[in-house]
Amino acid sequence: MDVDTRLAEDWVRAIAAAVEREHERLTELDSAIGDGDHGSNLRRGFSAVLAVLDGPDAPAPDGGPGALLTRTGTTLISKVGGASGPLYGKAFRAIGAALPQPGQPPADAAGFGEALAAGLRAVRDLGRAEPGDKTLVDAWTPALDAYRTAVAAGAGLPEAAAAAAGGAERGALDTEPLQARKGRASYLGPRSVGHRDPGAASTALLFRALADITAG
Ligand code: ADP
Ligand code: MG
Repeated sequence: MDVDTRLAEDWVRAIAAAVEREHERLTELDSAIGDGDHGSNLRRGFSAVLAVLDGPDAPAPDGGPGALLTRTGTTLISKVGGASGPLYGKAFRAIGAALPQPGQPPADAAGFGEALAAGLRAVRDLGRAEPGDKTLVDAWTPALDAYRTAVAAGAGLPEAAAAAAGGAERGALDTEPLQARKGRASYLGPRSVGHRDPGAASTALLFRALADITAG
């Protein structure tokens, strides 16, 4: 399975649908250790992304998956005020930039793994979070590890994406006992322990959406 424009658009639309379905849960998580806006932040961002995809100025189908994901990132950065807007925005821009240009051979499962790694690097460059700081890095890192392990064992994109989704979901769950060291939740100190990180939970949605759309 190649990563084409259709796959990129299906992924972004599936994330938007997941955010629409789960925004209340994300906001609840953020109410416990943040300011209660993570669900509404992502909802605003992905509504704007859908408006671009459905609008007169939508990315051209022959522009390639990279351009579509870069545009998604740019839209998130411009529409989401919270920490998560620039972080996810930069991540999508980095994924887009790491994919082949139109006319070049499309990315396969391994190539898409490199793009996902570029996304994580962008998050870490901007946010300076280490694994264990109780942020979305704690879901993205095990997702990428699981993805790469699956590809190294011969998996194609659907199987690698399913492994990544499982890794992200475990990583999100594993943020519960952690004390936050980055973002608003870190202001709570030890009181951040015992709650799931909202950004790690939304990263799990993002990887589950990839698994769903590639499973066909
Ligand atoms: P805000 O914290 O500005 O209200 P959101 O509520 O939308 O923004 O997003 C909060 C999430 O952002 C956190 O749960 C965490 O996962 C993520 N986050 C915050 N700061 C960082 C950081 N420096 N690096 C990585 N992720 C971060
Ligand atoms: Mg918040």
